[in-house]
Parts: sequence; structure tokens; C-alpha cells
Amino acid sequence: MAPYSEMTDEQRAICEMVRQFADEQIIPNAEHYDHEDSFPEPIVEQMKELGLFGVTIPEQYGGMGLDLTTYAMIVEELSRGWISISGIVNTHFIGSYLLMKFGTEEQRERYLPRMATGEIRAAFSLSEPEAGSDVQGIKTTAKRTADGDYEINGAKMWVTNGLLSTLVFTLVKTDTTADPPHRGMTCFICEKEPGVSENTGPYRGFNVPPKIRKLGYKGVESTELVFDGYRTPADSILGGEQAGLGRGFSQMMDALELGRVNVAARGVGIAQRALELALKYSQERRAFGKPIAQHQAIQFKLADMATQVEAARLLTHRAGRLKDAGERSDIEAGMAKLFASEAGRFCVEECFRIHGGYGYSKEYEIERLYRDAPLLLIGEGTSEIQRMVIGRKLLERHRI
Ligand SMILES: Cc1cc2nc3c(=O)[nH]c(=O)nc-3n(C[C@H](O)[C@H](O)[C@H](O)COP(=O)(O)OP(=O)(O)OC[C@H]3O[C@@H](n4cnc5c(N)ncnc54)[C@H](O)[C@@H]3O)c2cc1C
Repeated sequence: MAPYSEMTDEQRAICEMVRQFADEQIIPNAEHYDHEDSFPEPIVEQMKELGLFGVTIPEQYGGMGLDLTTYAMIVEELSRGWISISGIVNTHFIGSYLLMKFGTEEQRERYLPRMATGEIRAAFSLSEPEAGSDVQGIKTTAKRTADGDYEINGAKMWVTNGLLSTLVFTLVKTDTTADPPHRGMTCFICEKEPGVSENTGPYRGFNVPPKIRKLGYKGVESTELVFDGYRTPADSILGGEQAGLGRGFSQMMDALELGRVNVAARGVGIAQRALELALKYSQERRAFGKPIAQHQAIQFKLADMATQVEAARLLTHRAGRLKDAGERSDIEAGMAKLFASEAGRFCVEECFRIHGGYGYSKEYEIERLYRDAPLLLIGEGTSEIQRMVIGRKLLERHRI
């Protein structure tokens, strides 16, 4: 009888392949790119060869056509290596989901085949300098011009892959008087030249200021975007002008549900890595005449960490499976994101404590994990916002 597995044979084969890639290519090189805060180009090139940019894109557009649950398993393995690597695929994955679910056939044919190979990459932009959690408070606008194009003005903030992407799925206000405000919000597929700070020619008015310097999550750039009279055709509205105008908020919120499963998977990956490092170090380091792993206080830490990892993984897979089955998964995605990102922070901190003074040294991998983990508490909605979403949806589902 085959041993019990949570995974199908296909999922196991892909995860083993990605784990090997993480062990051989990501983990040994992460310290270098983290230290330099430079883009890990050679790793990304290999990811293109492995087809990792097209994992969820249907085969008819050149992708692998895998489901969200399998994608989450892949993200866990990549994040176990380094969460910045999963950051490079994450917004790309959200962009391809938006195209598959809401795009016109013309938009899909235009972008998905090149996205599947990684030739072009996508970013996803909701946040602004003055609005993050409160998405309806954004100020960037798009106005229809006399010739039928749209002109975008305003500033976006914290755009992961903001410089090196070709496409930015950008939420703006097309009707600033709409009440409630979300009815006046639209998602544009904004094109630009990848790697260019001040775009010219057809992309004039789309500027990318220098990347933001961060605590961790290095290597992948996070940038502001400044739209200053940027012109884009009406057919760059996600889903086309007729179907997409005023629909941006609900489209983006749908994609965020997926994004939450994705961040949850990153939490599982970083927690798993912290557990592995703690198990290794605690059996090597000796204190009071024996390996520290033989002290009960350390064993309790390991036990709590392993339990958190397992629980976070189960919640993440469950949220993925529900979404794949077409079931409602808003609460479950929120729970997975909340629990797994907090589990990531918890496990990383426990691993850091187990390392004693060495955990504070750049010689040890845990130092990077300690700087990387807090991002997961913030991105795709903070823990406070997850609790708000879960609480509100619970009351909706159980109204008396
Ligand atoms: C490295 C990095 C990468 C990112 N990448 C992207 C990206 O690619 N695209 C993108 O669009 N955004 C991105 N973000 C932005 C991220 O989604 C926001 O930072 C996040 O949603 C929080 O928004 P904020 O920073 O404006 O905080 P605020 O909304 O100002 O919140 C500040 C604090 O107030 C709390 N708070 C806010 N409202 C409430 C409330 N009603 N009740 C209780 N507490 C509340 C929050 O939980 C938080 O603790 C990224 C952020 C980081 C740090």
C-alpha cells in the first residue's frame, strides 16, 4: 500500500522538483542577493526554464494549467528557499488570474502566452501613499479623453515588481463622485517598458522612482509609481470598457482572495524553514553538558513550531481546495493568511531564540528570515484587516 500523502502524484513530483531547485539554487545564493539587495536574475532565468511563471495559466495559452492548491504547494517550496523569490511570481500570478477570470479573449491572447514563459511579468497595484487597508480611499484617477483614451494621474505605493514588470494591473478611480466609492473604481492593464524609470514614447507619463529601501524582502523591488498624464486606450480596461468600467474593486478583491492563499503558503514555507534550522542547530549546539535539544524548554519550542507549521499548511491547502472547487472561500482564505503569516513570525522568532547570540549574526540564515517574516503580516491585508474580514463574513454567514 502506498504511504498516506496529502498530495497527488503530480503534486508530489512538482514539489520535489521545486524543493530541489530551492536547495540547490535558491538557498545557497539568497544571502548574496539579500546582502546586495540585487535582483536574482540567474535564479529567475532558471525559473522561466522550469515553467514556473506559467504554473496556473491554461495549457491553451502555453502554461501548465495547474490549480491553486498545487500553486500554493509550489509557493511554499519557493518561500522555504527565500520569500523574495515567491514575491517575483506572486503578483504575476495574480495578474494572470485577473486576465483568465475577467479579461477579454483579446487581452488573454495578447498577454498570457508571453506571461506563461516569463517573457513579460506582471505587477499588481492597489496601495497608495495615503491608502493601504482602506482601498476605497485611493486617489489616483483615470479620465476619458476626447479621443476615447484614458489619462491616468496619481501615485501608487509599494508596488512589488514595480520596475521590472511590463504590465501593472492598476486600480484607479474613474468616477470620483461614486457612492459607495467602489462603484467608481476600475482596473487598467497599464503597459510600460520593463526596467525603465522614466518611460517615453507610448508609455510617456509612467514613471518609477528609485526602489524603496526595506528591512527585508530584498532582491525583489518594491517601488512607487507616478502617473503623470499617462495615456492608455479604453481597451486596456480589464474586461473591456463596457464590462470592466466601474468593476475594478470587485475584480481586485476577488484576486486578493487568491493572493491571501498565496501569502499563507509563504508563511508556511518560511515557518518550515525556521523549523528545519531550529532542529539542526539545537542538536549541534551544546549547553550544560548536552545538546540544547535535550533541554525540555527547547523541545517545547520545537513542538510548538512543528504544530504551527502543520496547522498553517492544512488551513492553506483547505482554502486552496475550496477555491479550486468553486466554493466560497473568503473566510477560509482570510483564516489561512492570518494564521500562517503569524505562524511564520512565531516560528522565525523561536528559531532565532534557539540560535542564541548567533541568531543575531549575519553568518546564520535565521537572521535573514527574521527580517523577511514581518512582511507577511502586512502584505495582502494586515492581520487586523484579516480579522475584520473574517468577523464580518462570519456574521454574514450566520445571520440570525
Ligand atoms: C514590501 C511590501 C510589498 C507590498 N507589495 C504590494 C503590492 O505589490 N501591491 C499593492 O497594492 N500593495 C503592496 N503592499 C502594500 C500593502 O498591501 C499595505 O502596506 C497593507 O495593505 C497595509 O496598508 P498600509 O501600509 O497603508 O497601512 P494602513 O492601512 O495605514 O494601516 C496602518 C495600521 O492600521 C491598522 N488598521 C487600518 N485600518 C484598520 C481598521 N479599520 N481597524 C483596525 N486596524 C486598522 C492596520 O492593520 C495597520 O496596523 C506592499 C507592502 C509592503 C510592505
